Amino acid sequence: MSLTAKKILAQYWGFTSFRPFQEEAIRSILDDHDTVTLLPTGGGKSVCFQAPALLMPGTAVVISPLISLMKDQVDFLKELGISAECFNSSQGVREQRQVRERLAAGELKLLYVSPERLMMEGMRELLRGLRISFFVVDEAHCISHWGHDFRAEYRQLGVIKDEFPNCRIHAFTATATSEVQQDIIRLLKLEEPHCYIGPIDRPNLTYRVLPRKGRGFDQVVDIVQKHPKEPGIVYCLRRDDVDRLSAELTERGIENRPYHAGLPDETRRRNQEAFSSEAVDIIVATIAFGMGVDRSNIRYVVHAAMPKSIEHYQQETGRAGRDGLPAECWMFYSGQDYKLWEFINAQSSQREVLMRKALLLYQFCSQPTCRHRFLSGYFAQEYGRENCGACDYCLGEVELVPEPLELGQKILSCVVRVKEKFGADHVADVLKGVSKDSIIRWGHDGLSTFGILREETKQYIRYMIEQLLGQGFLQREEQFQTLSLTDSGRLVLSGEREPILALPLVREKKKEIARRRKALRGQEWEGIDTGLYDALREKRLELAQAKGVPAYVIFGDRTLRELAQAKPASIADMEGIYGIGEVKLKKYGKAFLAVINREAL
Ligand code: ADP
Ligand code: ZN
Repeated sequence: MSLTAKKILAQYWGFTSFRPFQEEAIRSILDDHDTVTLLPTGGGKSVCFQAPALLMPGTAVVISPLISLMKDQVDFLKELGISAECFNSSQGVREQRQVRERLAAGELKLLYVSPERLMMEGMRELLRGLRISFFVVDEAHCISHWGHDFRAEYRQLGVIKDEFPNCRIHAFTATATSEVQQDIIRLLKLEEPHCYIGPIDRPNLTYRVLPRKGRGFDQVVDIVQKHPKEPGIVYCLRRDDVDRLSAELTERGIENRPYHAGLPDETRRRNQEAFSSEAVDIIVATIAFGMGVDRSNIRYVVHAAMPKSIEHYQQETGRAGRDGLPAECWMFYSGQDYKLWEFINAQSSQREVLMRKALLLYQFCSQPTCRHRFLSGYFAQEYGRENCGACDYCLGEVELVPEPLELGQKILSCVVRVKEKFGADHVADVLKGVSKDSIIRWGHDGLSTFGILREETKQYIRYMIEQLLGQGFLQREEQFQTLSLTDSGRLVLSGEREPILALPLVREKKKEIARRRKALRGQEWEGIDTGLYDALREKRLELAQAKGVPAYVIFGDRTLRELAQAKPASIADMEGIYGIGEVKLKKYGKAFLAVINREAL
């Protein structure tokens, strides 16, 4: 089989090999087993069911949660020369009739429907009269309360097995927790499913996490400016921050659009559309933004604050680099964010679970360690490499405190000396040896830890306290923000555990990092004619707009990069370039060749 599937992959998609677990998932579908496939965002889930749909008789029915995504997928398939359609509420009566006719005539290899639509009796009756190759439940984690996008309509999908007992169901998701997997199997009533759990790690993403200064606007603007002409998403926690940051960027001449649930529906739709269609490259958003975004060439994601959990972080950063090309993820965090989550989560009945998740993320932020390893570990996967080469820690951008145990002990014992009754600011003042009223009044100038860190700046001391909090050695009481030791904090005092503490970045180091980052980015573009690349991008946008489809539906960035490097001289030379299958070669070969000929002169 792998030969046939491989041939199809090259012929239609223009890909020469499978990504991890694609082949296994395809085989399981062709062999007629229920299947659960878990691959990270950008892992290439769609091909896993689209290729077998082509190889098997009948029509595959794909249940997908969002109408906008459905339409993009169908457009994408049509561009590849694969017959696909969807049913959704935005279609007119005539359009729906046409789809129905093509279905009845057995012309469609794939049919996309929303779960709501499938729940309509008429829809299932229609399907019962057809030859169905299999069902696909995409974004299957929506069925579970444990997932982060629970959707009530998904709960009813159990009817598929009841009413189509002879059809296999294949579930796809990017969410890795075992609770979610169990829910998917149970609620969809899958029978002895084959499960393929791909590596959650995204090697093409580079993670960097830095403490935020104030509102962090300058830091965010700096990142955005480092990515001229590249698509990016900036995530904020609050709507107000979105509005202000978006305005700030506009003021500095950087075109962008805001997106959050407080904007009128029409504005939101328009802004998302502008981003998806590549009319605008930057979107500033709350987490309300994302599910409907299929733009595969997002080159950077910035978190202007700590997201809700590691799952959220993984999903939000996962929107970067879906095309497999390098992309950067930046996060600017602060203990303030953790406090905000404490406040937000206080109302929830799942408060404890949510706060445990928030604390783990806080730890991820404040603990200098390999980010890729940490994320894999969180999802109970082993990370094989010693140095990932793609995070601030492994790239040597983080300098460590040489004697972290000693420093940690000094700070923790100061917290004990002030009887665990004071906040971080006061503790920092005592360590710094500031002789101010509040300190003298409590007699804290007489403590053995008074002035023990006299040489350091207060900012430095605050940063160390922050890291001890994030790593769970200290805790902050909710109401008065007083610091106290945790059990593991006491183990540091007795020398049984050692914190890992990062030094604040000094200016020279920052410059050096910027230099090295630039050099790395230079390597990425080596041998690629960037002028030609821009011209090819323009052509792609023109074709996409004329057709009313997102640009990636025509060609992905990687295809354009390969074209700008190889500069094929003829249609025949274009064969074998990544992402150019037979149909696309016929459709677009000439148009792009003309650009290459023109620019290469
Ligand atoms: P997911 O749904 O898992 O997030 P997609 O199915 O959208 O991922 O695929 C992500 C990107 O990877 C797409 O641009 C797709 O064309 C590309 N892709 C998928 N499979 C392969 C492959 N075998 N080789 C190269 N690129 C692939
Ligand atoms: Zn690393």
